[in-house]
Amino acid sequence: MNIHEYQAKQLLKEYGAPVSDGRVVLRAEDAKTAAGELDGPLWVVKAQIHAGGRGKGSFKEESAGEKGGVRLTKSVEEAAEEARKMLGRTLVTHQTGPEGKQVNRIYIEDGSGIEKELYLALLVDRVSSRVSFVASTEGGMDIEEVAAKTPEKIVSFSVDPASGLSAFHGRRVAFALGLEGAQIKQCVQLISTLYKMFVERDMEMLEINPLIVTDKGDLKCLDAKMGFDGNALYRQKDILALRDETEEDPKELAASKFDLNYIALDGEIGCMVNGAGLAMATMDIIKLYGAEPANFLDVGGGATTEKVTEAFKIITSDPNVKGILVNIFGGIMRCDVIAEGVVAAVKEVGLQVPLVVRLEGTNVEEGKKIINESGLAVIAADDLGDAAQKIVKEVKG
Ligand code: GDP
Ligand code: MN
Repeated sequence: MNIHEYQAKQLLKEYGAPVSDGRVVLRAEDAKTAAGELDGPLWVVKAQIHAGGRGKGSFKEESAGEKGGVRLTKSVEEAAEEARKMLGRTLVTHQTGPEGKQVNRIYIEDGSGIEKELYLALLVDRVSSRVSFVASTEGGMDIEEVAAKTPEKIVSFSVDPASGLSAFHGRRVAFALGLEGAQIKQCVQLISTLYKMFVERDMEMLEINPLIVTDKGDLKCLDAKMGFDGNALYRQKDILALRDETEEDPKELAASKFDLNYIALDGEIGCMVNGAGLAMATMDIIKLYGAEPANFLDVGGGATTEKVTEAFKIITSDPNVKGILVNIFGGIMRCDVIAEGVVAAVKEVGLQVPLVVRLEGTNVEEGKKIINESGLAVIAADDLGDAAQKIVKEVKG
């Protein structure tokens, strides 16, 4: 789960990391009061969406002279005016996709004088199973681009959880960032703070881009992106409270409400499968026969008819889905429950695309009977390979 920049900065502040003062604004009429509470002489007006690249992004129906989702202004009035202009509009950045994201919140921040823009991130490195630091002198830009063009400018190392973090790690980052004098001490302190909050708050990712050296020579977190481990949210209630559902894929959101393991993908074949391993194998075999899966979906072991119906609705609500493959190996999950769910869902939402069903295992005969007697135009398949070939043929011709 991701949170907004202003929420991440609030958390940074609570832990004692250096951030600017700022105010979040939800309604244009509050912008002037909010900006008036900040000192100036520079006010930064920042669109709050769960995507990076806002500065270089552009609004749909942008008028001449307008620039991006991060705007530097010189007065309270100007700040309020820019906030008003951005609220409610759709911002497109390289991370939002062409459809963009609607801006519902604005963060107005006390502007900083910048000497240098640096890059710093913490993430869970799945190869070493450790928390890793990534640091670069090339802050403020796309780190993927730095990695591709000048990988030598990125320094990365992981922390051994047995010995934990020490000042040495902080100095290593300071050296990588080319810091000097008092900044080195500030960096050691910051690294220790960030590591502590990363571990305590079950983060997956924490990116400060840019971390700046201000015109006064101090370190400051000018932007902040945080992602949290969804499986740990049960013990991070105050983080969960920061969830902004409008930022999430509506299909994934609906799935999470019904406890379905669903991830939206870009392909054309919707999949309903029980078991994560079988779901992955199903995606693989769809690819093998020349098509792409539209989603990963594991309905789980104890799925009810209601849950299966919901899963089916989520799949069919995706306009990219040109065909559906139901692949069930009934163990704990009974084939007749799946069949009932599919029939109920099709009756409710209709079936606009071809549907291939492969059932095997517990109560398979009852399951097949339910589908056959439903009168639905379902294409039956005998095994996984047969099922994949049939649905790919239906979709690709
Ligand atoms: P992003 O484009 O979504 O990554 O948004 P950022 O918060 O990183 O802002 C983009 C850029 O705006 C930064 O890299 C800075 O160059 C600039 N910027 C943001 N805040 C300030 C500020 O307080 N003062 C100045 N001078 N520039 C800022
Ligand atoms: Mn940034």
